Amino acid sequence: MELTLWTYEGPPHVGTMRIATAMEGVHYVLHAPQGDTYADLLFTMIERRDRRPPVTYTTFQARDLGGDTAEMVKTSVRDAYNRFKPQVMLVGESCTAELIQDQPGSLAKSMGLPIPVVSLELPAYSKKENWGASETLYHLVRSLLLSAVLPPGASRPERDPAIRPKANIIGPTALGFRCRDDIQEVLKLLAEIGVDANVIAPLGATPDDLMRIPDADFNICLYPEIALTTCKWLERSFKQPTVKTVPIGVGATRDFIAEIGEVANIDVSAALRRSQADTLGNWSADRLSSMANPGASRLPWYSRSVDSTYLTGKRVFIFGDATHAIAAARIATEELGFTLVGIGTYSREFARQVREVAKQYGLEAVISDDYLAVEEAVAEASPELVLGTQMERHIAKRLGIPCAVISTPIHVQDVPARYSPQIGWEGANVIFDDWVHPLMMGLEEHLIGMFREDFEFAEGHMSHLHTAPHPTAGTSGGGVAVAVAEPMAITADLQPTEGEPSDAVSLSWSADGEAELKKIPFFVRGKVKRNTEKFASDRGITSITVDTLYEAKAAIGK
Ligand code: SF4
Repeated sequence: MELTLWTYEGPPHVGTMRIATAMEGVHYVLHAPQGDTYADLLFTMIERRDRRPPVTYTTFQARDLGGDTAEMVKTSVRDAYNRFKPQVMLVGESCTAELIQDQPGSLAKSMGLPIPVVSLELPAYSKKENWGASETLYHLVRSLLLSAVLPPGASRPERDPAIRPKANIIGPTALGFRCRDDIQEVLKLLAEIGVDANVIAPLGATPDDLMRIPDADFNICLYPEIALTTCKWLERSFKQPTVKTVPIGVGATRDFIAEIGEVANIDVSAALRRSQADTLGNWSADRLSSMANPGASRLPWYSRSVDSTYLTGKRVFIFGDATHAIAAARIATEELGFTLVGIGTYSREFARQVREVAKQYGLEAVISDDYLAVEEAVAEASPELVLGTQMERHIAKRLGIPCAVISTPIHVQDVPARYSPQIGWEGANVIFDDWVHPLMMGLEEHLIGMFREDFEFAEGHMSHLHTAPHPTAGTSGGGVAVAVAEPMAITADLQPTEGEPSDAVSLSWSADGEAELKKIPFFVRGKVKRNTEKFASDRGITSITVDTLYEAKAAIGK
């Protein structure tokens, strides 16, 4: 048993729903108790789909358990086939149905339907949503293409250089983070370097489309959590190489283009050159009227422009699925000049990759699906910006830290009406705006640092967000209770906590030390306070004066 209030991922059958809902011509019969239809709302409300997901639930009740639940499966499969006439049927069970062991997949397969039936066995008590989506896609593709697999030892015929290379884009699903717009960006990138898209799957694909997957020269593994298992199988079975770079961020997009150049054996140097033209002639009318340079992002110039100087060294904590967390770490450090002070993922299957990134920055990755552990890690790192999921938005709100969402799980506001990819040149533009937006603007940061007594622009205030300081920050002036609270009350955590060494008990701040601490800008004050207290307790200092504060600063700065 694990006490859980929030979960980063749903059960694996929700992953299957994401594949079925993404596609056309696929129907999913789910053996599940009454009430599991709640999952429909993820698609009709959060993603605002205009129709119900293609899912038939057996919806058994307590009184059915004494009867023949297996017969309910058969009836549901038969009814679903007659009503929806799908090209392929997926059959699986939810957590509760797993306990009663009706083997719905085998039952459906034995019914002699005239279409392929894919039986899914997803262990709901050990695996989660992304794994469920990945397994479903793999089994679906495998079932449809098994008979076409190349014989052992055979290789693909060389591509005729006169014919443009073709790529499959694997991984975008329903309920994925910005998948809808990311696809458009990948298509633009491919068009720029003379590559055609063969099949995009699962989003928008039919089973017939999946049958055409082997026609492509290579596969683009866009979201490894969903696509890697399938891409690996395609690599083994059809000798299709996999492009593994996920093009989120300018550097990664350049690497993505270069990798395709190698894999498809085409010249991509012109596209790479264009991508360097990053000032984009913002002020030149002819370039503006031609939508600037679609082969470059504004991010590099924006982050080099002088207004971004104050972003340098901002302490950032990143958490999300592995794909987006790894991409975010690179953008944050290499493209925006932030300092990475924490990184983690709930994608256990990709823990190794995230650990490797963390190691490059001298950090220990947080690999956890326990939001309390994440909250603790965020508090400990005292970042100035959190890039995370919807959960981290709540965590950051409680801690009074600005936050932007970079990964699922998401709420409805992260399925926006406007075009908002994360991938490619335009994705980098969106990222620049979204990540900088929650931070206090440079001039305000400077002025609040200089004049602390203002009745309106008080500490923690961010006028561009209409936010006033949190009442607990100890300022008057009313305003709503908002996200921007003082990161740490001056003496709030001076009390000993369980397990702390006993000398921590006697730590206190002198009046002058506390007054000096208050002069430090609020968004770094928590970190300074912690560092000073550690410095003091390491040296057996019990009363922290203004001198201790500066000694600690000098020692840490060395
Ligand atoms: S079967 Fe699983 S998803 Fe459905 S209500 Fe029970 S625990 Fe939740």
